[in-house]
Amino acid sequence: MFKWLCMALIATGLVAGDAQAETYVVKRGDNLTKIAKRFDCTVDAIRQANGLTRDLVRLKQKLTIPRICGAAPPVITGEGHLPVIHHTVEGGDTLASICETYGVTIAHVKEMNPQLKRRRKRGRRYKSKWSMKAGDHLQLQPTRRVKPKTKLLYRISAGDNLTRIARAHGVTLEQLKKWNPKKKSTRLRIGDQLTILQESTYSHSEAEGKPQAGKLVNGVQMPTGPGYYRRRPERSWGTAETIDALLDAIDVVRSYHPNAHDLAIGDLSAEHGGKLAKHVSHQNGRDADVGFYFKNLSRQGPRAFYRTSRHPVDFETTWTFLKALAGSSDAESRVDYMFISYDVQKRFYNWAKKRGEDAYLLERMFQYPRGKRAMRGLIRHEPGHSNHIHIRFKCPRDDQHCV
Ligand SMILES: [Zn+2]
Repeated sequence: MFKWLCMALIATGLVAGDAQAETYVVKRGDNLTKIAKRFDCTVDAIRQANGLTRDLVRLKQKLTIPRICGAAPPVITGEGHLPVIHHTVEGGDTLASICETYGVTIAHVKEMNPQLKRRRKRGRRYKSKWSMKAGDHLQLQPTRRVKPKTKLLYRISAGDNLTRIARAHGVTLEQLKKWNPKKKSTRLRIGDQLTILQESTYSHSEAEGKPQAGKLVNGVQMPTGPGYYRRRPERSWGTAETIDALLDAIDVVRSYHPNAHDLAIGDLSAEHGGKLAKHVSHQNGRDADVGFYFKNLSRQGPRAFYRTSRHPVDFETTWTFLKALAGSSDAESRVDYMFISYDVQKRFYNWAKKRGEDAYLLERMFQYPRGKRAMRGLIRHEPGHSNHIHIRFKCPRDDQHCV
C-alpha cells in the first residue's frame, strides 16, 4: 500500500540514496517539470525537498527525490476515510496531481483502478505515462475533503502577466499554464481569456433574516467526513461559511488530538432554513448544536448529546475546538456567540485558569464569572446548554440580508 511505484523506476542517472529518499543527477535538457513527471512526483514536492525557491536546476546538480511524491502523508486509518468517489480525469491531470488533491497514494489509486497500466512504447515501459485520458473515471477513497472547483474565465487586461494573475487567484504559475496550454506568456493579448479553476468558496449560499425568523438560500449540507457524526443529516444545512468553519475547527482538533472521538453534530438548519421544530433559532443557516468532547470514550464517540454532569468532559480537546472557532481576535472570530450553561462555563473556566491560560483570553472567551446576564464573552449562558454547545456563526460578510 505504501510502496511508491515511482521508486520502482530505475531511471538513468539515479544513484543510490538514503532510505528516505533517492538522489537524481540532473542531465542535459532536464527541467523540474520533466524530472517531476519522470518520478510521478510534483514540482512542488521536489522543490520543497531540495529547498529550491525557483524552478531552475543546473546540469549535474544532485536532487533529492522525496519518497512521498507530492501527496501529503496519507491518513489511512480505516475509519475516517471519506466515501469512495469517482474522479473524472481532466487534461493536464497526472496520477501524482490526483493523489495530491485527494491525499492518497499512487498505490491506492492503482489498487482501486486495476485497468490503469503503464503505457508501453516499443515493448518498453514508457516512463510515468499511464493509460488514462481526459474523461476517464478513476475510483478512489479520499483522505481529505476536496471542495468542488469552479471554472473562472479571466479576461486579460493591460499590465497583466501570468505570475501576477496566478498570485491574485491563489494558484500557482504551473497550474495556470496547465489549464491554459495554448497561452504563452509572451503572446498574451488584452481581452484574451484564461481558464482558472478555483476551489469553490460556496459563495452562493445566503443567510437571510434573523436566526429566529429567516431562511437559508442555496444552503450547503454538512458532508459526511472524518471526525464527526451527523445526528440528523436532514437538519445539517448551513451557510457555506458555517459548514467551512465547523469542518475547519474539527480538522484543527484532529490534528492536535489525533485520538479524539468523533464529535456529535446536532441540528443546524433545514435545507431552506425557516422554522425548525423544537428550536427558536436555527432558521438561517448560522446555528449549530454540537456535543462536547469526553474522556474515556471509544473513537466513535457519542451518537447523542451526553450530559456533562454524567460523563467526564475532555476540556482540553473541547477547548481546542472552541478556540479554533473563536480565532485570535473578535475580528477573526467566526462566531458571534457560543451558548453553554453557566455552571458548565464555571467548570470550564476553572479548568482553563488552572491550566494557566492567559487572563485576557479567559475574559474574551467566557462570560463567567461576570454573571449569567452579563453581555460579555463569546461563551454565554443559555438555559439547557449543559449537554451541548450552541454555536451562532457570524453573518457572512457578503450576505446583505442577514441580521
Ligand atoms: Zn441550538
